[in-house]
Amino acid sequence: MIKGNISVQTDNIFPIIKKFLYSDQEIFLRELVSNAVDATTKLQTLAKRGEAVGNMDNLRIEVIPNRKAKTLTIRDKGIGLTTDEAQRYLSEVAFSSAAEFLEKYEEGSIIGHFGLGFYSAFMVAQRVEVVSKSYKEGEKAVKWSCDGTPAYEIEEVEKAERGTDIILHMNDADLEFLDDNKLGGLLDKYCKFLPIEIQFGTTTEKEGKKDVKKPYIINDINPLWKRSPVDLTDEDYMAFYEKIYTVSPPPLFWIHLNIDYPFNLTGILYFPKLANALETPKNKVQLYSNQVYVTDDVKEILPEFLTLLHGVIDSPDIPLNVSRSYLQSDREVKKITSYITKKVSDKLSELFRTDREAYETKWRDIGVFVKYGVLSDAKFAEKAMEDYCLVQNTEGVYFTLPEYRAHIKDLQTDKNGRLVGLYTNGAATNDVQITAAKAKGYDVLVMDTTIDNHFMQEVEYKQKDPAMAFLRVDSETIDTIIEKDDHLQSVLTEEQQGIIKGVFDAFVKIPRTSTTVVLKALSPDDQPVQITRNEFTRRMSEMRQFQAVDFGGMPENLNVVINTNHPLIPDNLLKINNLDDKTNLAMYLYDLARVGQGMLSGADMTAFLKRSLTFVK
Ligand code: ADP
Repeated sequence: MIKGNISVQTDNIFPIIKKFLYSDQEIFLRELVSNAVDATTKLQTLAKRGEAVGNMDNLRIEVIPNRKAKTLTIRDKGIGLTTDEAQRYLSEVAFSSAAEFLEKYEEGSIIGHFGLGFYSAFMVAQRVEVVSKSYKEGEKAVKWSCDGTPAYEIEEVEKAERGTDIILHMNDADLEFLDDNKLGGLLDKYCKFLPIEIQFGTTTEKEGKKDVKKPYIINDINPLWKRSPVDLTDEDYMAFYEKIYTVSPPPLFWIHLNIDYPFNLTGILYFPKLANALETPKNKVQLYSNQVYVTDDVKEILPEFLTLLHGVIDSPDIPLNVSRSYLQSDREVKKITSYITKKVSDKLSELFRTDREAYETKWRDIGVFVKYGVLSDAKFAEKAMEDYCLVQNTEGVYFTLPEYRAHIKDLQTDKNGRLVGLYTNGAATNDVQITAAKAKGYDVLVMDTTIDNHFMQEVEYKQKDPAMAFLRVDSETIDTIIEKDDHLQSVLTEEQQGIIKGVFDAFVKIPRTSTTVVLKALSPDDQPVQITRNEFTRRMSEMRQFQAVDFGGMPENLNVVINTNHPLIPDNLLKINNLDDKTNLAMYLYDLARVGQGMLSGADMTAFLKRSLTFVK
């Protein structure tokens, strides 16, 4: 028997390991099973080269809990370790890599706590035994054991089969890891796509009428993203998606990533079906390294808007044994990030070009990503905004921004010559104004998702020629938004206008806003009273609600616009002498305007209904 001391500066590394990694104890399983996978694939490589001989039939790895003995065994039939190697690799190499890991770990969180390796076993085990027989001929089997102090023992043992058993004698506090459900869950999380079969107990299958016990294999050794896209059908992609995201509706489409130069990256990104960026759960893209699950927190690797996607990225070239802050500034990672962004952009562009109709039908879902991307990623925005970002009008017709600018060019400009994109947040609430705008031949866009406010701001900010401003249909009276030369004259004298204004001024008041009564000479066909909301102050107040940012309490500006040329004003309102009756009619017209914009509810609505009845004669 060989006795030795693991060379350490600190007396004991294990309390440190436990202290630092307590919350992520479970990763020990990933580390040990991936070591077993490595040992097995190494053996396969050697066998292919004719450098290893022996039984290569069943190279399955086994995970075996034993609740009575309080042990967990990870068994492989890989290359194994000689006495010499056990001493070197387990006692020296593994230890120093664990020490190095902890050093880095103190600097900042390490991605998925990757790279702690063999020593992570001591997070859950009070004693670890490694029983191993090397593939090398003539080597004796060896047992290495260590109880969590720097002292270790190595002795010769009997072992018939080639390979390694890692036997963890679990801490009493960590016996939960012997529970079948717990273990099964962890294997599913970390090992589901490892490239060597992993057996976890048995399962019963029907063979004819008989129940037959079969090894239960927890993993898919040839996951879809590793396969060649030409061999795969849409059904394959859908089935794979369903396997990972059991409760999600089918995805819209997907992108198979496959690159081996200048870095190695495979994966599949799915565009999930969703309509609202705010409801989207993130952390749906899983990062793998050679089929080993690393993390679902990929914000340092994907641009933020792509974290809304679902799917898998697998790249051994993403350095994982580094802190997250390092990763973000790493040049290789930046290359990977921009490659993925470009792939996504190319795919969207291709979908749009090759099947615009299908693209349009999916736009409600795709749009959230594209707009979010436009807002958050300058590089992506460059192409996306002008090429395949769509807007839709109230007729349901889709346009790219260049198409839309051309569409309204001769029709909708303001007094500064800027194009005016009229829009509504919801066709239902703005119907009165939309109808008025359409009657004059104008086009109205539907901007009804939470991200649209910000999106329009961005389009305005990154002006193209001709410049375009977005104004909601009720931000002014339509004639003011789209300035025309032929100003109408008011049919009322100044004095008459003063009377009318006085009547409205006496009662018009909208809480928490700054509201002004304004008289305007509009067409007799326009509504007698309209309520308009200043675009700027309205957007500010919406953003305040949205982001909880306070812009200094600026109230929203509203105008109550009286159309002096609507026949009801000169012919009716002006002619009533009794002030109560005059006010009553004015209030009624004002209420009609509010009804038209969905602004009436509660007691106001009741009062309106009551007043209406007095007019039904
Ligand atoms: P790493 O895997 O990053 O090299 P580890 O701490 O996980 O570091 O393991 C240290 C070394 O121990 C490995 O490099 C390998 O040589 C050896 N080893 C660990 N597990 C096994 C195993 N199941 N079979 C053969 N060798 C192993």
